[in-house]
Amino acid sequence: MGQQQLFGDRDEGAEHRVKVLLPLPLGGALDYRLPPHLKDIAAPGQLVEVPLSGRRATGVLWDADAVPGGKTLPIEKLKPVEALLEGPLMREDLRRFVDWVAAYTLTSPGAVLRMCLSGPAATGQAPVKRHYAPAPAVPADLRMTPARQAVLRLLADGKARTASEISELAAVSDAVVRGLEKAGALIALDISADAPYPPPHPGLKGPDLSGEQAAAAEAIRAQVWEGGFAPFLLDGITGSGKTEVYFEGLAEALKEKGAQVLVLVPEIALTSQWLDRFESRFGAAPVVWHSDIGQAERRRAWQAIASGEARVVVGARSALFLPFRRLAFIVVDEEHDGSFKQEDGVLYHARDMAIVRAKLAGCPIVLASATPSLETLVNADEGRYRLLKLRERHGNAVLPEMKAIDLRHEPPERGTWLSPVLVREIEATVAAGEQAMLFLNRRGYAPLTLCRTCGHRIECPACSTWLVEHRFRQELQCHHCGHIEPVPNACPTCKTEDSLVACGPGVERLFEEVSHRFPAARLGVMTSDTMLKPSDTARMVHEIASGKLDIVIGTQIVTKGYHFPNLTLVGVVDADLGLRGGDLRAGERTYQQLVQVAGRAGRADKPGRVYLQSYEPEHPVVAALLSGDGEAFMAAEKEARARHHMPPFGRLAAIILSGPDMAAVLEVGRKLAAVAPQIDGVNVVGPAPAPLARLRGLFRFRLLMHTRKDVKIQAVIRAWLNAVKAPSGVRIKVDIDPYSFM
Ligand code: ADP
Ligand code: ZN
Repeated sequence: MGQQQLFGDRDEGAEHRVKVLLPLPLGGALDYRLPPHLKDIAAPGQLVEVPLSGRRATGVLWDADAVPGGKTLPIEKLKPVEALLEGPLMREDLRRFVDWVAAYTLTSPGAVLRMCLSGPAATGQAPVKRHYAPAPAVPADLRMTPARQAVLRLLADGKARTASEISELAAVSDAVVRGLEKAGALIALDISADAPYPPPHPGLKGPDLSGEQAAAAEAIRAQVWEGGFAPFLLDGITGSGKTEVYFEGLAEALKEKGAQVLVLVPEIALTSQWLDRFESRFGAAPVVWHSDIGQAERRRAWQAIASGEARVVVGARSALFLPFRRLAFIVVDEEHDGSFKQEDGVLYHARDMAIVRAKLAGCPIVLASATPSLETLVNADEGRYRLLKLRERHGNAVLPEMKAIDLRHEPPERGTWLSPVLVREIEATVAAGEQAMLFLNRRGYAPLTLCRTCGHRIECPACSTWLVEHRFRQELQCHHCGHIEPVPNACPTCKTEDSLVACGPGVERLFEEVSHRFPAARLGVMTSDTMLKPSDTARMVHEIASGKLDIVIGTQIVTKGYHFPNLTLVGVVDADLGLRGGDLRAGERTYQQLVQVAGRAGRADKPGRVYLQSYEPEHPVVAALLSGDGEAFMAAEKEARARHHMPPFGRLAAIILSGPDMAAVLEVGRKLAAVAPQIDGVNVVGPAPAPLARLRGLFRFRLLMHTRKDVKIQAVIRAWLNAVKAPSGVRIKVDIDPYSFM
């Protein structure tokens, strides 16, 4: 779309009406007037400065057909665009992506734009360093000195240098350099101090691929070469070489001058091994993007991505909103991972939105997983995604042997959590010089602290949840709002001293048990509480991989794609844990998580064993893991979802109401229920108190809309919510395709 369409039919005298989208949660783009002198140099996507209620705001010149933000004012009443800002234009495919995500998630386009501009990254200036080069001609009246001569001789090679480089190399003082500049013999150049990102090399040789790997890689490579939107599901068991396969697609993309690749990964802190592999395959590091990178690096990366200098970006979900100049290939690794769903701010699912981004960019996309989500499997079944399967582990490695430990028959001793069967296995593993991993997806020491005298349970003051004891830090924590308090000596209710007891296990308590049982073993604990920085994780991963630890205890962060060659035993301490909540995806999610954690065992030459401790080994999830028949399990899940018209065979949207006054929140919920749409194929339930009925001091109620698949759920919700005016103290949040039912 060029300037013609933007301004052509909107000529109102010499001035022009334009739309400017601001990175603010407004209804849409706002109208401004473009003064005549800017008309010919402005184009959609241009960063501009505009007045907004008495201050200046930075926005993006949007397209003329964007949805109007408010009532149409006559042009003479509009405020003028004040300046065009330097920097790259926001490209058409990204502008359409902003519009699309906003419309789909029912959030304001400005809130989505804010993710694209990433704070001041878009407009920040690269720091510059002053360099000096010789002037084209030496002024005739220049007074020569030996020092000046030395400088001019040094710079005769044409290379610009900083004053400190010159004074060192020519052995003169800085004052000589400044004097030459003043005399007109040197010219000063301000050169960006950003170090360039070294380009990855597509030409290095990858590993020799097996037959099935080569076939999958070739399908991807050919599509990347050809270009055009084409989604693939790369469904390969753990350790089958999915990364090596999509690296071939990446190499193909890099052969094209200026083409860029985006690799989305669930949690960037957890990819140190991925980064090492990338570097050894392509000879340079990729650009890393996540929420914790500092301001300076963020600006440098953003601008290098916009200019096209950054060729490969690996990032967390927010990398989806980066201003690629020529996006040629997208990979979503571990596509089933729940952390791709953003649960605050704009509620979007990065895997789903990545498909949209690929479509708008016109490029291939690979979703990779050993345990694809049901949504993705259905897309593959129905032919929308091309299925590439890897059925074997690389080399001699085979999938680990799976066994259940029935805790009804082999229970742990009182106050401990490991069954004697698992204890013996750990002993044997460590004695053989191999490594064991124990998985328990519960942070802290114990999930509940209770008074043995009066039964009081310690609750969060702001949320309807129990506080979790963290014994390493000697505090009680709320895992929902972050509230922290010291562990009291006496019960807060009955005041009995030393009466509080920990109930149930967390990883810290498991650590205590393991260190008592195996005093000579070297232990490591991997949880989000102990792995605060990416470098902590990198160090721990390195220690495990290099054999410095015997037993690793961890929460779900140990499940993510790591390759530990000497790890042969995995113990799942509570295989039933994820099944208890019972939301729509509880079975699927537990299955995926346990396959992933089991997949850490026996990835190299030594075979692996996995033990699942369960009180209900006949549960379909546990049974599927034991039989290894994941396909049958997912087929049964699919059939059940289809029968109940649940996603992806129907649609869901949650309306979450919250506020400090419970009655007011409930009142809005009742009003919404009273005017709920009476449309064929649309059903609304609620309001009901949310499972987390109070969060950060706010009361929460939920309504759930369930529709047939062909219903335009966004339009229905928009009309419905417009019919009820909520008081300012009640917040309404819409979650399209909810994953969390809290
Ligand atoms: P996945 O992502 O499917 O779990 P990876 O790509 O991590 O599998 O591969 C598992 C291990 O096997 C890695 O160490 C990888 O480098 C190695 N590997 C996979 N395929 C090959 C191959 N064709 N040649 C050499 N090593 C391979
Ligand atoms: Zn809380």
